[in-house]
Amino acid sequence: MNLILLGAPGAGKGTQATKIAARYGLVHISTGDIFRANIKNGTEIGKLAKSYTDAGELVPDSVTCEIVKDRLTWDDVKNGNGYLLDGFPRNLFQAEALDTFAHIDGVVNINIDQALLLDRLCGRRVCKECGESYHVSTLNGATTCARCGGELYRRKDDNPETVQSRLAVYNEQTAPLIDYYTKKGIILNFTGSEAPAEVLFEEIGKVLDTFVK
Ligand code: ADP
Ligand code: ZN
Repeated sequence: MNLILLGAPGAGKGTQATKIAARYGLVHISTGDIFRANIKNGTEIGKLAKSYTDAGELVPDSVTCEIVKDRLTWDDVKNGNGYLLDGFPRNLFQAEALDTFAHIDGVVNINIDQALLLDRLCGRRVCKECGESYHVSTLNGATTCARCGGELYRRKDDNPETVQSRLAVYNEQTAPLIDYYTKKGIILNFTGSEAPAEVLFEEIGKVLDTFVK
């Protein structure tokens, strides 16, 4: 089963992606994580991506599509049960490119009230080691990850100005993909809320369970 996870920044894609991938044995492919790892390691891709991610803009399509196309040729994907694309595609160009090198069975779309997104993103803290995310309001001042003890940090693009431009990019470029995949008949719509991530995951799981069989 090959899936796409779609949703605005702050919709909780990362958390749901980890859970979905674990439950169905899918390879989790996050283009945002790939870019952040490259930036951290100072690779050529990282140097190129940095100015875009820092500004909340999209890294050029040619680079992004090549990265994903290559990633889908790795052994874990070839020998596995399928994959979950998280953060890709991000616009129509990428969606059409993806159609030339992949077969997608379903698109999990998380709709969420945009007012909630700002607070979520600006309050988000992420574990340096395992990538788990938290909201400051639930941390009670903790600075390390409850799961692995790693140090928590605020992503550079989670500051208010960058968050605004990421939301604008989502509305202009990514939201049209909902229509694209609705027309293909493979969209699965869910509504995010302030409820704990487990609640949304249960709903997604119920639908995907029937989808797998
Ligand atoms: P978000 O929390 O905004 O969904 P991601 O972690 O998915 O963020 O991505 C972080 C940044 O990485 C984006 O703002 C963008 O600069 C870059 N990026 C990630 N995926 C893509 C993509 N498919 N195309 C272009 N740029 C991307
Ligand atoms: Zn951790």
